[in-house]
Amino acid sequence: MTKYLSYKQNILEASQWLSEHGYFGSQRGSGGNVSMRVDETVMAITPSSVSYTELTKEHICIVDFNLTLIEENHPVQPSVEAGMHSVIYRNRPDVNAIVHTHQTYGSVFGLINTPIPALFDEVAFSLGQTIEIVPYALSGSPELVHNVAGKLSNNANAYIIQNHGILALGRDIDKAILHAELLEKVAHVYYLALSTGKLVDTLPQSIIEAVAAVRNNEVKVAVEKKK
Ligand SMILES: [Zn+2]
Repeated sequence: MTKYLSYKQNILEASQWLSEHGYFGSQRGSGGNVSMRVDETVMAITPSSVSYTELTKEHICIVDFNLTLIEENHPVQPSVEAGMHSVIYRNRPDVNAIVHTHQTYGSVFGLINTPIPALFDEVAFSLGQTIEIVPYALSGSPELVHNVAGKLSNNANAYIIQNHGILALGRDIDKAILHAELLEKVAHVYYLALSTGKLVDTLPQSIIEAVAAVRNNEVKVAVEKKK
């Protein structure tokens, strides 16, 4: 349907960029997924089990938030992790695009089960005061959806999923990708800083509080706009 064409094209381009830049962990695989909100009950999302080298815009799925395909005779099923995207759109009106990747340095902190604190102004204002860890549950399980939902009230734009990968959220697809990039940058630098064995400084408390106020206000404005 032409109505959804721009969403499909944007998701295809975002997926290809993330794949080519190593964000999905393998270029020939189908791990990770990308979605965009279409409206208050519908999203566009990458399919299950189609490698990024073979992905075309015809594969991108249009589903409602109960994960039912909207287009008739669609050739593939939505990503098994679609539930994770749906629960974010339901709970975060400020979010219009989501990138879920298996990127290297973000994943390191999912293995050592350690949140990333506020280390740089830009990262803190874009991603939130802390990049928290979503507790592990099997990919695609209702438990993982539940665990993601449990973390969303901090209004952050990035989360690390324990023993799995990361989630980057944005008000549009470019912002969601930028947030995945910023997360990888801060995770890489934090990893290097920790490896020196020296004390790692975080931002002053006053800045952390200012960040929280800005992020909470952005979410409030988005909620009011959609009323
Ligand atoms: Zn995954």
